[in-house]
Amino acid sequence: MKKVHNFNAGPSILPRIAIENTAKAVLDLNGAGMSLLEISHRSKDFQAVIDEAVALFKELLGVPAGYQVLLLGGGASLQFCMVPFNLFEKKAAYLETGVWAKKAIKEAKGFGEVVIVGSSADKNFTYIPKGWKIPTDVDYFHITTNNTIYGSEIRTDFDSPVPLVADMSSDIFSRPVDVSKYAMIYGGAQKNLGPAGATFVVVREDILGKVSRYIPTMLDYRTHIKEGSMFNTPPCLPIYTIMETLRWLKALGGVKVMEEMDKKKAKLLYDAIDSSKIFVGTVAKEDRSLMNICFVMKPDYANLEEEFMNFSKSKGMVGIKGHRSVGGFRASTYNALPIESVQALVDCMKEFEKQKA
Ligand SMILES: *Cc1c(COP(=O)(O)O)cnc(C)c1O
Repeated sequence: MKKVHNFNAGPSILPRIAIENTAKAVLDLNGAGMSLLEISHRSKDFQAVIDEAVALFKELLGVPAGYQVLLLGGGASLQFCMVPFNLFEKKAAYLETGVWAKKAIKEAKGFGEVVIVGSSADKNFTYIPKGWKIPTDVDYFHITTNNTIYGSEIRTDFDSPVPLVADMSSDIFSRPVDVSKYAMIYGGAQKNLGPAGATFVVVREDILGKVSRYIPTMLDYRTHIKEGSMFNTPPCLPIYTIMETLRWLKALGGVKVMEEMDKKKAKLLYDAIDSSKIFVGTVAKEDRSLMNICFVMKPDYANLEEEFMNFSKSKGMVGIKGHRSVGGFRASTYNALPIESVQALVDCMKEFEKQKA
């Protein structure tokens, strides 16, 4: 296989072992003489897969009693409306930190009054708003812990006087999380956990059943809790790969070890950016993401953007083009990305700089 350095933002790099074992299961699951793609989701073999995926999820993230872990379809985007369907009675509060937060806010507004407690829209979401207060008269408070497009991140768990709901699509399993501070955590799997197609939801059961509206059956978390994520056919293949990714994570030593590795990778790249004559970071230093590292050319070198893109491509870099709303470059350094790839990108930046500055 061709060797590339995969910095894609999502779907993105996964542990090689998880992909290889998924490929084996696609050919023959546990020697059953059937593919993972052909077997009933009600079979003993698949039940064991989803049970292990959920058990590893709970163990590795430290999910306390009273919470349920669901593996569903629909993506994080469906959660943008599923959250208000289940939790919104009169009013909700949101922190506006990027495109995904805005999309979540848009859906919530269809249910009633939304209070934006803080926003970094004034500076194109290059920082995390500070000094905001969570209102006490809202049904819940929603945050996006990692802003995948802009490269800013909230890496601390804080107390909230109302149920705290977090979109952790792109930083789940990159640090230890105090789950007890959250009422809900959700995300699409395709950034740090598995292939596209599965959505994880961690929900504290006691927050459910409090709204007066009718909740469509498929959008009611209680449906999926009652049926163990199998009210309907779940995304079987993505769930299998999630199980394999979590086995890999556990074998490496869990989220603490992962966080150390992610910090090392991010430091390597941020140090290169900060000491560069031609590149500059786009996010306030204290709010920089460990998962999505955004940078641009300094104004004097802005005309070199495309040239660097081509140069990096020739060196095997994939997926470093910044999102169209930011421009420049974005290197996603998810859990499965080896530090060798980050080093290769840093070497490539330095070599380019030597030629140009
Ligand atoms: C990718 C992403 C989403 C959207 O996820 P889908 O599964 O494609 O709906 C939502 N929030 C964040 C933070 C993301 O990174």
